[in-house]
Amino acid sequence: MSSLRVAIVGFGKIARDQHMPAIAASEGVELVAVADPVASLPGVPHAATLVELLRGGPDIDAVAICTPPQVRHSQAAIALAAGKHVLLEKPPGATVAEIAPLAAAARVARRTLFTAWHSRYAPAVEPTRQWLAGRQINSVRIIWKEDVRVWHPGQAWIFAPGGLGVFDPGINALSILTRILPQSLFVTSADLAFPANRDAPIAANLALSDARGLKIAAEFDFRQTGPQTWDIEIQTDGGLVSFSHGGRKLRVGDLQHVDAAKAEYPALYRRFHELAASGDSDVDLAPLQLVADAFLLGRRRMVEPFED
Ligand code: NAP
Repeated sequence: MSSLRVAIVGFGKIARDQHMPAIAASEGVELVAVADPVASLPGVPHAATLVELLRGGPDIDAVAICTPPQVRHSQAAIALAAGKHVLLEKPPGATVAEIAPLAAAARVARRTLFTAWHSRYAPAVEPTRQWLAGRQINSVRIIWKEDVRVWHPGQAWIFAPGGLGVFDPGINALSILTRILPQSLFVTSADLAFPANRDAPIAANLALSDARGLKIAAEFDFRQTGPQTWDIEIQTDGGLVSFSHGGRKLRVGDLQHVDAAKAEYPALYRRFHELAASGDSDVDLAPLQLVADAFLLGRRRMVEPFED
């Protein structure tokens, strides 16, 4: 297909850090506009809202929705109604059920809806999925701890209803887990720590399982200072598989594989380009469903207030 002309909707941290350079590095994908209440990029047409962009901006084929999740659905619905392909940053929405009408609209319009779980595009994920296939998995441990002040400075939306709190990064681990393990997983218990002055958890411990009683433990914490931890360890009958640095480092026995930083988003845009060429969608809600179930089942504890 000819070049995919993309507008970024929501020009904040992730749009600047990852989407902009990934688009620039992607053949056949072009950044042609930005819609954001305030933020803009010199030399690129800007509108304060997507509606204004669609009314008076340059022609676009697709949008990458990089807003906070609470407004993702409304922006995606507007874009699909205008006949645009849609990439949804993770999480794909603030609720699970809001995605079905978007998927239906995409189907009717023959446009792409892409739930872009960026962590799944770390190059170590696919080889791990293949290595695990057919092996017996004995247990899984996830430790995903980062400093919210470093990664989300001043982002009030993250602790607002629908902002997911610590599940904003935690869902990345769940997106890897649900990609590399073929079976259905479910939450069996959850302990959620809510700061007294916030509406979303700052830490969470989850237990998950599958139909065979596999034990999966996940620890998520936003209060980590110093070195950050994004690790997944999988005990198997073939030895220990260890993912660290969010899936960038993979160790299986004596073998170690280290990926270059920033490999995920170019791969994500290759996939989006491919999908848009056919009008197919790629929608997977498994990670979001697990987070929603943790909220359903979770025991809630109040912890000290969080000040940014
Ligand atoms: P952010 O820095 O707060 O950026 C969000 C941007 O969206 C802001 O500029 C905001 O403008 C704008 N916005 C809000 N409502 C809008 C609307 N209706 N139309 C157009 N723009 C709108 O947040 P972020 O860190 O980039 O995160 C955005 C999403 O990316 C989140 O879902 C997050 O989970 C995901 N993500 C983030 C990271 C990361 O490291 N930060 C990594 C991967 C994925 P105002 O501030 O003026 O409201």
